[in-house]
Amino acid sequence: MAIVNVVLGDCPGCGGKACFGNVMITGNKLSRGCKQCRYWTYVNLPPVSKKIVYLDQSILSAAFKGGDARAVQAVERVSQLASKQLLVAPHSNLHEDETHQWAGYGGKTPVELMKFIERTARGLEFKNSYSVEEAQAYKGFKAFLAGASPQYELDEKDAVSGDIHEWHNYVYITVGRYLGDTQLISELKEQAVRTLLEVFDTWAQSTNSFEQDVALENAEAGKGYLQAFLNMQARLERGDFDALLNAPIASQCVGTLLHAVRKDMPTDEAFAEVVRFFFSEHFAELPCQWLSSRMFATIKSMVKNGAFSNREKALSSLSGVFYDVQHISTYAPYCDAIFILKTAVTRYRLHDLFASGGFSVVRWPRWCA
Ligand SMILES: [Zn+2]
Repeated sequence: MAIVNVVLGDCPGCGGKACFGNVMITGNKLSRGCKQCRYWTYVNLPPVSKKIVYLDQSILSAAFKGGDARAVQAVERVSQLASKQLLVAPHSNLHEDETHQWAGYGGKTPVELMKFIERTARGLEFKNSYSVEEAQAYKGFKAFLAGASPQYELDEKDAVSGDIHEWHNYVYITVGRYLGDTQLISELKEQAVRTLLEVFDTWAQSTNSFEQDVALENAEAGKGYLQAFLNMQARLERGDFDALLNAPIASQCVGTLLHAVRKDMPTDEAFAEVVRFFFSEHFAELPCQWLSSRMFATIKSMVKNGAFSNREKALSSLSGVFYDVQHISTYAPYCDAIFILKTAVTRYRLHDLFASGGFSVVRWPRWCA
């Protein structure tokens, strides 16, 4: 006897009325059974190749709150297409971080929002943003060492598991296990936005070209990785072994690259190679780096043109800026489309960025909404 999800008709085994149908899907195999007897059969399903879409936090939370009809319709449409096995819209750890900092709204709680996000994603998840970043850095570093082209070869496996292109079951299981420190993340986020606003006055005076600003962003990011690693090393040398647990994740990325070459060369030489990589074109061409440096350079050019002159207003309108940049730069290259509420698109001129032609390594999001 089976739990039948979709009744197809009478049972070929026992002849029972309206008790036979689809039970579950595993891989590309559909099991059918009967509510009343042990009759069981399998159907091989044709292979599927799904489109991957990314729903930004702004659109998911707007759909959940229900006030914005565009968001509600978009998310409903995505759910319908996902149930037809045409696309997947996995969620990421960034959705989780953002959701757990949300204060709630009209009696709705962050836990309910997370359930809504997981339901929309049908339980599917992108790989952790850190893993994606590290996978890109590792591959870029290998190409750098081999003297290969800096052009990054995008591989879907960097960001999603292969079973994303399988038929998905009627039910999915999620495991509640949020490990982020909500208070700490929220404080760091506000501090980061305030630091960003502090440099706006300098930016407004800048006479750099867009490309010069991109190069500066890349150099700052490279320095950031190395500094994080050196800080962690200094803490370890002082005997502060908590560094292994709570040092910024960028420091681990540098550690991984060092580990990759350490067996082939002395440590000093290996570190020098890693430093050179973080200031190389190979690093600048990593998709997450390519996009984030251009998004920040875009904000900078907007500041130069007078945007965000009211700093208090800017503090609120830019409150999600670091998450937005991280969501987009990490996952958009692996998606066929990305949904972002229009305000955010306008803010970073994403269309211009994706259409600028320089980013040939990614599959272009076909459209943004
Ligand atoms: Zn039967």
